[in-house]
Amino acid sequence: EKMQMASAREEKILVLVRLRPLSDKEILADEVADWECINDTTILYRNTLREGSTFPSAYTFDRVFRGDCSTKQVYDDEAKEIVLSVVSGINSSIFAYGQTSSGKTYTMTGITEYAVTDIFDYIHRHEERAFVLKFSALEIYNEAIRDLLTTDNTPLRLLDDPEKGVIVEKVTEETLKDWNHLQELLSVCEAQRRIGETSLNEKSSRSHQIIRLTIESSAREFLGKENSTTLAASVNFIDLAGSERASQSLSTGARLKEGCHINRSLLTLSTVIRKLSKGRHGHINYRDSKLTRMLQPCLGGNARTAIICTLSPARSHVEQTRNTLLFACCAK
Ligand code: ADP
Ligand code: MG
Repeated sequence: EKMQMASAREEKILVLVRLRPLSDKEILADEVADWECINDTTILYRNTLREGSTFPSAYTFDRVFRGDCSTKQVYDDEAKEIVLSVVSGINSSIFAYGQTSSGKTYTMTGITEYAVTDIFDYIHRHEERAFVLKFSALEIYNEAIRDLLTTDNTPLRLLDDPEKGVIVEKVTEETLKDWNHLQELLSVCEAQRRIGETSLNEKSSRSHQIIRLTIESSAREFLGKENSTTLAASVNFIDLAGSERASQSLSTGARLKEGCHINRSLLTLSTVIRKLSKGRHGHINYRDSKLTRMLQPCLGGNARTAIICTLSPARSHVEQTRNTLLFACCAK
């Protein structure tokens, strides 16, 4: 029966949509909110100026969150179960996809914090097992993987490990001690992300950030004995590059190269996600980008996957909002 449940789950990628409220700045600039969540699963485009347009106006997903929903609610209702599957040895990935300023970092930071709290809580309630919780953080920029926990800028390589699948060579893994330690590590990551860029927003719009929590556990009674088996799995929190990069064609030189790479990894991701959502049959081109190759062990098989598509309600963002919804529709 367990097997059946696992395979039923395999079929599905959880697709969530989160609409953020208009910001104070947008309100001051007389922005109008054209999008509205009319129930828990449907988001509606309501622009009275464009009545009768040929665009579909209602979009339905596993779950949509209104602008006044808290990250805690998003976490409790949809992410928590996926996060906690990691303690039973199931890999998982939670993505934030959306244009710059739509709320990806806001959403993923909150979810990562709630996840760590819950995992620590679980560890404390299960003293019969010995747990180790590890934290690592990577950035993928121009198809180069950088460790966000060191000042060393050397790109990291991906290697095929016969047992673990794809691994990141020489990645820093910190054993997470407590909540304060998490906050420390998150600020190290943020400082590292700022290097070489004039503004964080500029860089975060072009790079993917991956925070990985790995949990290893073994039953205490078997610790150090021959028959002791270790259970290990990872949960990944992926704050993707701004989705506007997937559609934008950039001019020349370095920016062009950048544009192509971002294009490639976001496009590869959408192809992979689309194939996975159709039932994981046939060849899946994980190797076409660093992001999908690195995440392969946490995407296929019985891994759990959720994508949170973040949206701005602003009229001026309608084009990008619609692009994000189209991506979301392909993933479900
Ligand atoms: P992104 O990472 O997609 O570029 P951010 O997460 O940085 O976007 O969000 C842009 C701004 O909007 C930030 O100031 C953030 O605090 C705010 N924001 C985003 N989502 C929400 C939300 N659901 N509720 C309130 N404020 C939000
Ligand atoms: Mg961001």
